[in-house]
Amino acid sequence: MRSWNGPEVPRLPGHGPLPRLWDTPSRSLVEARPLAIANLYVCGITPYDATHLGHAATYLAYDTLVRLWRDAGYDVTYVQNVTDVDDPLLERATATGVDWRDLAASQIELFRGDMQSLGIIPPDHYLAVTELIPSIVGAVERLVESGIAYTVGTDVYFDSAAAAAASPWHLGQESRLDRDTMLVLSAERGGDPGTPGKRDPLDPVLWRGERPGEPSWPGGDLGQGRPGWHIECSVIAQDFMDVPLTVQGGGHDLVFPHHEFTAGHTAALTGRDHAALYSHAGLVAYRGEKMSKSLGNLVLVSQLTGAGVDPRAIRLALLAQHYRSDWEWTDAVLDAGIARLHAWAEWASRPSAGTPLLTDLRDALARDLDAPAALAVVDAAVLAGAGPATGDLAAIQALLGVRLVE
Ligand code: ZN
Repeated sequence: MRSWNGPEVPRLPGHGPLPRLWDTPSRSLVEARPLAIANLYVCGITPYDATHLGHAATYLAYDTLVRLWRDAGYDVTYVQNVTDVDDPLLERATATGVDWRDLAASQIELFRGDMQSLGIIPPDHYLAVTELIPSIVGAVERLVESGIAYTVGTDVYFDSAAAAAASPWHLGQESRLDRDTMLVLSAERGGDPGTPGKRDPLDPVLWRGERPGEPSWPGGDLGQGRPGWHIECSVIAQDFMDVPLTVQGGGHDLVFPHHEFTAGHTAALTGRDHAALYSHAGLVAYRGEKMSKSLGNLVLVSQLTGAGVDPRAIRLALLAQHYRSDWEWTDAVLDAGIARLHAWAEWASRPSAGTPLLTDLRDALARDLDAPAALAVVDAAVLAGAGPATGDLAAIQALLGVRLVE
């Protein structure tokens, strides 16, 4: 599937340090060191409603990671999916009388526009789940053959206990959550712990047998149906990159069950870990609640740019929050981004002077993508009065993605 046009990223002199990122399973900062190529998978959107600033903040965090790897001298393979067939999408399509394919296509197009206007580096492989069905079917068939999957009616489930016995993964390896918490989160986030007949209430569906009125695909031995959520990302990652991935990323609402079982599926299929590092971004609230489609309290990038806000100001507003924090979008956050862009642009027009910022910017961002600290480095130079040193504007463009002069 087509992604979007990437921004221009200047090459900087020398190389920056490798970034250290907070790793969810080990609960520590871990160097994101590629084996050869940096392999990054970030879970994409379910395109049933407009993309919002919460998404933008997540993809901006991993855009920063890609910039840092490239600056450290590594080639990057970046893969992102679109979950273009899923319960919420189908429910929304039914409720609005729009064909689910048209709904998905329109929302994916909005997402592309938002990502491009924010200067987010596109994935090298941008994949709709519906493009990968045969590969997913093959993976589920292999799990059935190896006794790590079982059927309940026309559905196929992942056997967590069998996978733990046969692979380096065990339930809780990625999330480090206790069982009671897992049961609550499973029910809240797309799982079906109450379905009778499962060997473990937490076992996730791998292949959902055809239901009347729902789209379905040929599933070979599995029968007509559609894939479960976690197996999609596991298979797409394996099809385009070597595992263990350097980093698996996403919003922290994906810690469980999504990334737990993505890890389990990959381990069961390959005998290897899914990722060396699991990174999770914070969630964005608006008017006191998590910004989400279901709550209807969205602020959209396209709304803001449509109202005349410079996308660079939105980018600076997002970068002013640490990616792992949960934070709230307010008018004051946007106003600060607009004011910062204004001040930086004025500084950029001053005659060249000052001490180069490159080392300080690289060091700030390498410490768990600390964009607020990187902004503070530039703010200090702006306040100091002299103009940018030679190379500063390229460094800001390459590392922070903000181009200050034409
Ligand atoms: Zn995913």
